[in-house]
Amino acid sequence: ATPTAVMVGTGVGASQGILIKGGQALESAHKVNCIVFDKTGTLTIGKPVVVNTKLFNKMPPQEFYELVAATEVNSEHPLAKAIVEYAKKIREDEENTIWPEAQNFASIIGQGVKAVVRNKEITVGNKSLMSDVNITIPVEAEVALAEAEALAQTGILVAIDSKIAGIVAISDPLKPRAREVISILKSMGVKSIMVTGDNWGTANSIAKETEIETVIAEAKPEHKAEKVRDLQASGYVVAMVGDGINDSPALVAADVGMAIGAGTDIAIEAADIVLMKSNLEDVITAIDLSRKTFSRIR
Ligand code: ADP
Ligand code: MG
Repeated sequence: ATPTAVMVGTGVGASQGILIKGGQALESAHKVNCIVFDKTGTLTIGKPVVVNTKLFNKMPPQEFYELVAATEVNSEHPLAKAIVEYAKKIREDEENTIWPEAQNFASIIGQGVKAVVRNKEITVGNKSLMSDVNITIPVEAEVALAEAEALAQTGILVAIDSKIAGIVAISDPLKPRAREVISILKSMGVKSIMVTGDNWGTANSIAKETEIETVIAEAKPEHKAEKVRDLQASGYVVAMVGDGINDSPALVAADVGMAIGAGTDIAIEAADIVLMKSNLEDVITAIDLSRKTFSRIR
């Protein structure tokens, strides 16, 4: 393609809310034959809501949620926002916007958060986080997790002073056209893969709904990037589509990194293409545009 054609292509992209950071990004996109999708906030709407709570001690739910929200209010994660929203709703004093003070807050990317609240050690996250900090998961909690996962919900474990105290089940529905986008990509000869930090049960339920055949779950950020490099090593030209801090290593590793516009600044910075409207179908538009710009017409 001529430099003019590339400029035109980039301009057409911009006019449709597809920000292409340079000619190289536009060029690489036409060779893409495999796309790695993040799940949360990419295939799903990313506005999760708490749909269920199971408590394993006698603590009143309000008190439980005070402790959890005080911890999660320090996190940017969409799951954290869902928990804080819910905690606000069930508060006796709904007008109150102040949470108990959290000390020693730590965010473990792709796993969860912890802090000390009211002299209690609060750990909120997935199984891998609990296992890393040597907290055992009782059978009743395993059962509750499995129930949530079968419904495509994410079950978040909450430990108080190193003992599992409850599970918060969170639902984050698929974007309306997710399934259609995957199917169109398939017809374009592009294979789709889902890589998520979420657990296998939820990931498989979501994959079934979108008809994505290949799923990798419980992936830490460096695993997402590793998966991208594995695919490249097997000969694929790989695009990564993601929205989170946890996706940025993979966005950088991919031949084409595409960030969801509504995502975090770090992901947007790491990407070659930004889908400003946060529409999944713009992944197809971007590839189409690149194909039109770079396919040789004789
Ligand atoms: P995804 O790849 O689906 O975007 P992440 O890698 O961001 O997901 O997170 C993976 C998992 O880690 C989540 O499904 C959740 O179980 C846990 N997690 C991450 N951040 C938090 C948080 N702030 N609070 C609770 N759990 C979290
Ligand atoms: Mg995400």
